[in-house]
Amino acid sequence: MIIDLKALRQKGIKSQQFEFSYLPDGELLSLPDAKFHDDVKVEGVVEVYDDEAYVSGKITYGIDASCSRCLAPTTKFFEIEFDEKFVSERASSADEDCLIYKKDKIELIPTVNELIMTDMPYAVYCKDDCRGLCPNCGKNLNDGACGCEIL
Ligand SMILES: [Zn+2]
Ligand SMILES: [Zn+2]
Repeated sequence: MIIDLKALRQKGIKSQQFEFSYLPDGELLSLPDAKFHDDVKVEGVVEVYDDEAYVSGKITYGIDASCSRCLAPTTKFFEIEFDEKFVSERASSADEDCLIYKKDKIELIPTVNELIMTDMPYAVYCKDDCRGLCPNCGKNLNDGACGCEIL
């Protein structure tokens, strides 16, 4: 997904809505055995200024993973609100801390990938009160007690 700022400026457009979806590389996911449930959806609006652009909106994604306690298959959905400022490579205010766009084009997917990686939880649970597996016999304690004496 590339936003062509030059084309928008030429049409005199200051603000433009957009929407796209894509399937990111599963390597983004730090959770073991996790994969994206479906395409990631991104919707938002870009505001165009002389040497800057603001992109804000919402990312929605789902992951299929194993419950971090009992290993049951678990699907979770997440939503990220974002608001990013992009500065032209030509702008004097451009420095390493800001997002830079080159040749008047904003390439959004790397930024979205970054936001997803930052947002990703370290663990997912099949339910909030998942009891996990018995550390002794390995029985799924959601199915009932195993009878082990846990010290
Ligand atoms: Zn669980
Ligand atoms: Zn047990």
